[in-house]
Amino acid sequence: MEYVSTRDKSRKVSAAYAIANGIAPDGGLYCPTSFPALTAEDWHALANLDYKGRSALILGKFLTDFSAEELADYAAKAYADDKFGGKDTAPVVPLADGKHLLELWHGPTCAFKDMALQMLPHLLTASLRKTGETRTACILVATSGDTGKAALDGFHDVEGTKIMVYYPVDGVSPMQKLQMVTQEGKNVEVVAIRGNFDDAQSAVKRIFTDETVREGLDKDGMMLSSANSINWGRLAPQIAYYVSAYCDMVKSGAVKMGDKINICVPTGNFGNILAAYIAGKMGLPVNKFICASNRNNVLTDFFKKGGTYDKNRDFYTTTSPSMDILISSNLERLLFFASDYDDKLVADLMDQLAKGGSYQVAADVFAKIEADFDAGCCDDSAAAQTIKELWENEHYLCDTHTAVAVRVYEDYRARTGDTTPAVIASTASPFKFCRSVIEALGGTLEKDDVSQLGVLTGLTGVPAPAPLAALAGKTPRFDRVVDKADILSTVGLLKDL
Ligand SMILES: *Cc1c(COP(=O)(O)O)cnc(C)c1O
Repeated sequence: MEYVSTRDKSRKVSAAYAIANGIAPDGGLYCPTSFPALTAEDWHALANLDYKGRSALILGKFLTDFSAEELADYAAKAYADDKFGGKDTAPVVPLADGKHLLELWHGPTCAFKDMALQMLPHLLTASLRKTGETRTACILVATSGDTGKAALDGFHDVEGTKIMVYYPVDGVSPMQKLQMVTQEGKNVEVVAIRGNFDDAQSAVKRIFTDETVREGLDKDGMMLSSANSINWGRLAPQIAYYVSAYCDMVKSGAVKMGDKINICVPTGNFGNILAAYIAGKMGLPVNKFICASNRNNVLTDFFKKGGTYDKNRDFYTTTSPSMDILISSNLERLLFFASDYDDKLVADLMDQLAKGGSYQVAADVFAKIEADFDAGCCDDSAAAQTIKELWENEHYLCDTHTAVAVRVYEDYRARTGDTTPAVIASTASPFKFCRSVIEALGGTLEKDDVSQLGVLTGLTGVPAPAPLAALAGKTPRFDRVVDKADILSTVGLLKDL
């Protein structure tokens, strides 16, 4: 399997190269040049495997320069029972009206990012080895909250790596912030920036394409790499859980093998839903991919208004901060796939996006996208109402991001009459967004952030995940705040880690 950049497909690289480097030198994202099909034998094997085995099998289809033994070893470590609380790694919970919640938050940081970021350090360190790279990989992460902590947890004290995380100072939940600033480890740095997630993401992209920065780091034996979902090594592990969910639904009798499902994903950077789309390209039977957004509904407009992407709009801080994004990076990969790998077209659209903040997709390309995707959005009060209703009617406690997806799915079902069974990605533990969930349930907040955990347990009888409860005893280590214009200067901090 070979990989090319979405903006220049003339140069082909291996999976290991794509993972080690994160982003292509032209600013494009690495993509596989074809989609491996799941055969009847694969489906048979998948049905009888546990999550670790399913993950290794799916990854093996894409990472052909890794051996089956290597991938099995990484999956065993990444999804070790002690990291996932001894529970199923990615359980499917059936609810009313065809809803199946795919819980992706049983990992160490209680959000779905763990599913990829517990795997990525293994893939990355092996990729460095395979490509003969001897420099230290410096991982720069822009986060809207959850990626940062998941990447810190995955990479802390991993030999041959350093990690620096940038988060928007007022754009993450108190629990997310506490998780990040209390991170332990010798090779970690956490920086708050005055700006929003898009500012952080753009700044990190700028660092990646700055030749002077690269040369300076190179002199000190360092190279840049990425743990954002622009890195193929982040995306590839996410494909497996959609396939796994389908296997579980066949097993439980919710669907028959070959029946179609809908997949609804609360979306920010478009990584998680793109992984579902790729699973579909491999043969997972999917009717519609439903893209759910909060009030930052740039993607809803893209899908519902004929393929115009326009980030020139107000940015809102919402109760689902991990989706407060106006530049959804992975949409670039969808454009590449839907245009039959037209690198010139993608490069041109991305240039328009960088210069004017908008672009319009050609009608023939958009027609293909529209055939696969539906979309919807909801605001904070609708999400809060959904949390309350889901708890009162179905005794299911969900977080704010998941609530957005549930609401958008229910709207979709009412609007279309489509009763296809749906997998809805449940992307975070409700305890990670405690304040908003308590408020949605009509509870009374306490002052201190960690105390909220007990409040939510008191209201619902649901215990808080152990990694969040453990924050009570931890001291913050990082308090640096910089202006977004000064982000480049923070690269120097890497030297001292
Ligand atoms: C990151 C995140 C999302 C958005 O996922 P994307 O891959 O960026 O679209 C949704 N929910 C939660 C809880 C997240 O952490």
